[in-house]
Amino acid sequence: MMESKKICLFFPKSEKEKPIIYHLVKDYDLVINIFRAKITAEEEGYLVIDVKGTKENIAKAMEYMRKSNVVLNETNRGLQRDKDKCVHCGNCLSHCPTKALHIANQKTRKIEFDESLCIECLACVRNCPFGACSSIF
Ligand code: SF4
Ligand code: SF4
Repeated sequence: MMESKKICLFFPKSEKEKPIIYHLVKDYDLVINIFRAKITAEEEGYLVIDVKGTKENIAKAMEYMRKSNVVLNETNRGLQRDKDKCVHCGNCLSHCPTKALHIANQKTRKIEFDESLCIECLACVRNCPFGACSSIF
């Protein structure tokens, strides 16, 4: 049975030339969707990907990445949301392309976050005036 999993990866400078994604596709038969990629001034790399494949192959691929000195963010979240900082102003709503940030209850009109819908675009980080959304990268 096919599954999908969001994975956040950190490549230290020493590993940034390794063709990790190529091996995920070729050796583990995974379909990769890249949400976000960034190379820092220190030449370290960050990558947020969605992988689709069998549970067994995803597990093997993650083991391969760990052995390749790629650091896996086990929370699999690049976006952090601090509920205490959110004042429910709604400014982020129109910027969130997937409705991961949304109003579930029209009476309270509080902003809810559905992590499963988040594609890590970080539009909310740029558009939250109160710093409630931030990136781990
Ligand atoms: S913009 Fe920030 S403070 Fe306003 S609702 Fe969105 S997360 Fe909360
Ligand atoms: S990172 Fe993008 S998809 Fe995720 S909650 Fe923020 S705006 Fe929505």
